[in-house]
Formats: sequence, structure tokens, C-alpha cells
Amino acid sequence: MLMPSFTAYRGRFAPTPSGPLHMGSLVAALGSYLDARAAQGEWLVRIENIDPPRCPLGAADTILHQLEAFGLHWDGNISWQHQQGEAYAQALEKLKAQGLAYPCSCSRKQWRDHAIYPGWCRNGVQAPGQPVAWRLRSDLGQRPVNWQDRLFGSQTHDPAEYGDVVLQRKDGLWAYQLAVVVDDAHQGITDVVRGIDLLDNTPWQRQLQVALGYPQPRYLHLPLVVTQEGQKLSKQNLAPALADNTHAIRQQLFKALQLLDQSPPSS
Ligand code: GLU
Repeated sequence: MLMPSFTAYRGRFAPTPSGPLHMGSLVAALGSYLDARAAQGEWLVRIENIDPPRCPLGAADTILHQLEAFGLHWDGNISWQHQQGEAYAQALEKLKAQGLAYPCSCSRKQWRDHAIYPGWCRNGVQAPGQPVAWRLRSDLGQRPVNWQDRLFGSQTHDPAEYGDVVLQRKDGLWAYQLAVVVDDAHQGITDVVRGIDLLDNTPWQRQLQVALGYPQPRYLHLPLVVTQEGQKLSKQNLAPALADNTHAIRQQLFKALQLLDQSPPSS
């Protein structure tokens, strides 16, 4: 597939539609939106719905309505990951051809005593004939990986220390690491602004970009919004959905701007 020509700045918000947006996801959306607008760049929305069991019907529509209600208007067409399977398959073939992806029959249960997958299938599938996932040879690609995070500064990580991440699951579903890299490249994303919970995914993503011959976006990871107990606000720990009346929207935008270290006017 041809790469689109790069604009000076093209950012994106890429929610997984596993539920409505909450304050944590609003901060990520607003941070990337404002960064794009400040650069007079484009801001795209991509719905990361590669894992249907995790995505209740209607959640993507709810998210899009929430973005509109908060005035976060996106440019161009929305991209949907469930329509990109062909592009992910091509990327996986490219990795296989370079010996950077391998089939793996191991189950999580088998390696539960290890911090990361120990690579048992690297030199041949352990249980031939069983369903396989495809994993990245994180030890063979570019390492270490360096980048200058726009907020957290100079980063040096060895993807092999994070392990051979799954690119395609045993059930055939595509995994986030591969999908995000292919989509960022195909959409010509120049700037990724997202929560710091994804910073330790960036080494794999940059390693994949090099292996696939893609340009490398700039990265800015935002501090996370945490609960009073210091837990990450997330759908898993039942962060409340954003309220949708005009008054609440104004209050939540105000709070999100403050969390982004901005000084919104009080009236
Ligand atoms: N889909 C991911 C999420 O909702 C974000 C992916 C990204 O920004 O790279 O957490």
C-alpha cells in the first residue's frame, strides 16, 4: 500500500471502544487534539475495534458523540481497525519474510512463572498441530530503541527486555502492537500523543516501524489521571463515563485542561 504524503503535523486519537470515554480518556483526547490544533495540524480519529468481544455494540458511537459534545471535531474520515485486516496481514508477511515473526503454540498458563514469554517456540513450535499465535522476535530487530519523548525526554529501551509480543492471536484476531503501527503509518501520523501507560509499548512499536520500513512519528506521553487511591482511571476500575449536559461538559473540560497543566479562564 502507498504511504500518504505527510503533512507537517498529523495527530490522532485512537480509542478502544470498550466503553464510553471517562476523565482519563478525555485528557488523552484533549491533549492530542490541542497539540494538533496548536501546530495547525490535522487530528484524526481511529476506532481500535480489533477485539470484538471487548467492544460492546454502540460503544464506538457513544465515543464519537462524546467527542462531538466536547467540541473535539476530527478531520477526514474515521478509520476503523476491523476494516484493515488485509493491511495487517501484509505487514505480518513482511515480518515473517525477515525472520522477525514466528508461530507460537504456548499458552499463558505454561509460562506463568516467567515475567515475559521465554521464547520457547523461537526455534520451532513446541506443540506442532496446535493453534498458533504469531510473535515478534524482539531480540532480532533494532535494539536498543531510542527516542526523544516530547514530555518525558530521552528514552532508551531494549524491546527484548519486554519480550516477544503477540502480533496475531491464536484465534486469528490481530493484536494491538501490529495494528497500531500499521495504522499510524498508513494514516501518515506524525505525532502520537497518548497516556504514559503506553510508554512501555512504544519500544516494540518503534522496532516494528524500523522492520516494516515505516517513518517514525514523534511521541508525547501524558501523565495519567489517577483516582484518589492512586489507581489509573480506566474502564476496568469503573471510572465513571463523562456526563453529557452542557454544564457538566464545561466543568469536565475545565478540569481536563487543568490536568493538562493549562490555565483555563474561570468563566
Ligand atoms: N487504543 C488504545 C487505548 O484505547 C490507545 C492506543 C494508542 O493511542 O496508541 O488505550
